[in-house]
Amino acid sequence: MHLITRSEWHAKEPTASYVRLSSTRGVKIHYTGGKVLADLADPDNHDHCPGLVRGIQRMHMGGGRGERYIDIGYNMVCCPHRKLFMGRGPHHLPAANGAGLNSGHYAVLALLGDSGFDEPNDDLLNGLVDAIEYLREHGGAGDEVKGHRDGYQTSCPGDPLYRWVRDGARRP
Ligand SMILES: [Zn+2]
Ligand SMILES: [Zn+2]
Repeated sequence: MHLITRSEWHAKEPTASYVRLSSTRGVKIHYTGGKVLADLADPDNHDHCPGLVRGIQRMHMGGGRGERYIDIGYNMVCCPHRKLFMGRGPHHLPAANGAGLNSGHYAVLALLGDSGFDEPNDDLLNGLVDAIEYLREHGGAGDEVKGHRDGYQTSCPGDPLYRWVRDGARRP
């Protein structure tokens, strides 16, 4: 498992304390959606990933989701190079699953769009399983793996990734 710490991706500090979670029922999977660089998964293109994560943090903290979040909304972010970016991290309430749904499941984001790079590659899927295992080991996450669309009106995490979730979220 390759973890990229917050200092390594030059995360901004959270603007307030996190709400602590002792455990969750599991993890919900998200995607970025929209247009993502078609060849993002090329081995040479990992250079793009930290900037994408910083952009999401900037959007969340800047009020792009309607209110200013204290930090990026996700607990962890996976890129198609099987690298895991630390978001809010384990034992911290995410802001991604929808009102009332954040204490039930950690939120893990896949850098995956619905155009351009829109089919998860093996490294992305393995990275998601790495994140799930990490949150089980370090954050008391339970066995459930669900999609954002479970319990909330959204297309997230997109059909290809949602199929993988429904098929058991297994390593490829
Ligand atoms: Zn989502
Ligand atoms: Zn990457």
